[in-house]
Amino acid sequence: MKKGNIWVVNETSEGSLSLITKETMSKAKELSEDLDKELVSIEIGFNNDEMARESGYYGADKVIQVEDELLEHYNTLGFAKVLETLMDKYDPAIIMLPASHNGRDLAGRISAKKGVGLVADCSSVELAEDKKDIKWIRPSFDGKLFCDVRILSEIMMATIGRGAFVEATRDESKKIEIIKEEVKLKEEDIATKFIGFEKSDINPLLDKLMNSKIVVSGGLGLGGPENWHLVEELADALGGAVGATKAATDLGWCDKDLQVGVTGVQVKPDLYIALGISGAIQHTKGMDNSATIIAINKDPDAAIFNVASYGIVDDLFNIVPDLIKEIKNRK
Ligand SMILES: Cc1cc2nc3c(=O)[nH]c(=O)nc-3n(C[C@H](O)[C@H](O)[C@H](O)COP(=O)(O)OP(=O)(O)OC[C@H]3O[C@@H](n4cnc5c(N)ncnc54)[C@H](O)[C@@H]3O)c2cc1C
Repeated sequence: MKKGNIWVVNETSEGSLSLITKETMSKAKELSEDLDKELVSIEIGFNNDEMARESGYYGADKVIQVEDELLEHYNTLGFAKVLETLMDKYDPAIIMLPASHNGRDLAGRISAKKGVGLVADCSSVELAEDKKDIKWIRPSFDGKLFCDVRILSEIMMATIGRGAFVEATRDESKKIEIIKEEVKLKEEDIATKFIGFEKSDINPLLDKLMNSKIVVSGGLGLGGPENWHLVEELADALGGAVGATKAATDLGWCDKDLQVGVTGVQVKPDLYIALGISGAIQHTKGMDNSATIIAINKDPDAAIFNVASYGIVDDLFNIVPDLIKEIKNRK
């Protein structure tokens, strides 16, 4: 591994640092402490002073900021030229990017152009036992396996999947060093022209699932679609969102977009309640970062109890209807 620092390439979403950037930042910070390296955030954009400061508040020791009108919106060639120029000057050891559309695009291009090893969509990042290498862990075969991938090139690059880590905490009192760099860009360097944004509609149930502090998820233990209302009623009573296992969505018991897991959405609410869910790794990898997990399952050996903070071994039909009643009564 090179001597240089650890970089996180920022991404903005609707005028603020994207959640996935903040999640990437929290893991990068941990690595920087373990490896005794500085954490540097790379802020590329236009009118981006605030974003540069924000990335410092979210944990970067230093920020390298590049500002240019041609960088107002993400474009592959412009951003890649800037990142390559900065790499040549500062020689980083590790570059981490959010595994968003843009992050994947940029990482792929830099990897090919600079011959840098890249692991895409990491779900976990761990220091190797000798503390000299990094295990870049990513799901493969649609989440059936988690592979420990090692990077052999001197510079290491990785994109980090959404929900893989808890987001970094914001500390406005932090002193930040911001280095402003200029990279000469011409319109011909970009080769594309930004026309405008068109926001695509997002399923409101999915939106709620991804943003709620409480999620109640159901699995095959519900027994059939006729009982699914219990998941919805408990979620409603708690002011939370509904989630499901792949098995339940495949059977059409609820909206397909509500699947939680490696091939669904990854969530990390304050409270995750799992009803009749066995705890297959493909499911738990989508919710095990939740702050508190309560599982109700009649099988005491169900794997869901391995990730649960609290477990109730019982038939969910003995518990959930009374629980809904009790919560409603207390309101
Ligand atoms: C490539 C691949 C990708 C996958 N991706 C995902 C994914 O993203 N998300 C996902 O969820 N799964 C995914 N899966 C499927 C996953 O492997 C499991 O099959 C699935 O999560 C199991 O769903 P389940 O827990 O609802 O069902 P089951 O495994 O059948 O578990 C049902 C549980 O309910 C309990 N139970 C039964 N009756 C009651 C009752 N009355 N009261 C209380 N408990 C009861 C049982 O003890 C059991 O533990 C994937 C699989 C593959 C092969």
